[in-house]
Amino acid sequence: MKCLVCKNTRFDEGTTTMTFERDKAILVVTDVPARLCANCGEPYLREATAREIETLTKNTFAGQVKFRVRIGEHEVYVEEYAA
Ligand SMILES: [Zn+2]
Repeated sequence: MKCLVCKNTRFDEGTTTMTFERDKAILVVTDVPARLCANCGEPYLREATAREIETLTKNTFAGQVKFRVRIGEHEVYVEEYAA
């Protein structure tokens, strides 16, 4: 496996924060397990994690939200990734 950004081949286990936008809504998912490039920090998700994130994103935008805040005309949702 090679980092697509810097071509480095060393990775560390860690977590990352992901953001998704749909219309005026923004979803922030924290504590997502990922492999991080040891050089530039670019996060890489495993396929299973990516699938779960997709489901979480779909459900959140469908209205299943734990935390919601309105900033100006934007709605911001925050979810913690739970494996
Ligand atoms: Zn890199």
